[in-house]
Amino acid sequence: MSHQPGRHFLQIPGPTNVPLPILAATARPVIDHRSAEFGQLGREVLAGIKTIFKTENPVLIYAASGTGGWESALVNTLQAGDRVLMYETGHFAALWERMARKLSLKPEFIRGDWRSGVDVAAIEAHLAEDRQHGIKAVCIVHNETATGTLSDVQGVRAALDRTGHPALLMVDTISSLGSTDYRHDAWGVDVTVGGSQKGLMLPPGLAFNAVSDKALAASRQATLPRAYWDWEDMLAANRTGYFPQTPAINLLYGLKVAIETLHAEGLDAVFARHARAAAATRAAVRHWGFETQCAVPAQASPTVTTVRMPEGHSADAFRALVLERFNMALGSGLGPLADRVFRIGHIGDFNDLTIAGALAGVEMGLAAAGIPHRAGGAAVAQAILGGKVEAFREAAE
Ligand SMILES: *Cc1c(COP(=O)(O)O)cnc(C)c1O
Repeated sequence: MSHQPGRHFLQIPGPTNVPLPILAATARPVIDHRSAEFGQLGREVLAGIKTIFKTENPVLIYAASGTGGWESALVNTLQAGDRVLMYETGHFAALWERMARKLSLKPEFIRGDWRSGVDVAAIEAHLAEDRQHGIKAVCIVHNETATGTLSDVQGVRAALDRTGHPALLMVDTISSLGSTDYRHDAWGVDVTVGGSQKGLMLPPGLAFNAVSDKALAASRQATLPRAYWDWEDMLAANRTGYFPQTPAINLLYGLKVAIETLHAEGLDAVFARHARAAAATRAAVRHWGFETQCAVPAQASPTVTTVRMPEGHSADAFRALVLERFNMALGSGLGPLADRVFRIGHIGDFNDLTIAGALAGVEMGLAAAGIPHRAGGAAVAQAILGGKVEAFREAAE
């Protein structure tokens, strides 16, 4: 491999850039996970992670990718043949639905157009019809990373409440947690699934389940086979700061610093930084004359913008060119969107200049690839990132 001078721009919506202090925190000698020293670390991260999910209840931490968190949520609370209501926001929702089928659940998949978040009214209508309460869980993806849409979790909670439906509410926050407002307790969520490698700015390898008392009660009745994922074993060991198996010790060192890093900036400031980057990115896309995959402006994702490629142009060829010429990785289109869209990640560790640079790289790539566009989108983004309020207003029109 030839040397690439300068920094690699990792502008995919996860895994994200790991800040050096977090990376350095993981580069420590491995310690005995049954030692007193580890117990201290375990207690710190188990307490600290609750402040990110905004919960007083336990958060379970697994050595797994985010997908493991999906599985843990389902197998701990349900039984074979249970009906679960899911909503097709895009690729990740579809993968979770496929998993539910593999686990012998009976998902009822409300079809979506992959261009918007969940339709709360459709969920409410479905729940209202289920007078026998056969549906045991409603599962939604907060931020659909494939399409760049954010869904209304509180709206779904309200739909459950209005219909008096007792189903558990499960939410995938793998690409939203720590990047945009989320409140496990206040929003009445029963299981929140998270992962380490997106907003938490860690390498891949940790999956999270925040749980409610209702979810814990359901887990005592649930009969789906579970072994590694069993909440009970994990919670028993966690009470003193330990884990039933060997935890991802070095990632937990990193997690401690990641939590501190988020609080040092301030969660609200972190959320505002993501919102600003997202607004600047969308303004650039609009200026270039392209559409975002998200067709509902109010549901645009704060962490990823999915850009529809003009007809007749390959998004993958464009991404390959940008990688080769400018050393920047852009996200690929997933499932049916393969080669039709590219995704610009603005999630985790970045600043205004990172986004300005990334958008300049996209625009330079468009010119180099000969893809018709209106030049100047990166400059519009710069004006927004630089705080020019008028630019922001104009872009919004
Ligand atoms: C990345 C992602 C996943 C999958 O996580 P893995 O760590 O790859 O298993 C699931 N859901 C959403 C919304 C994601 O963004």
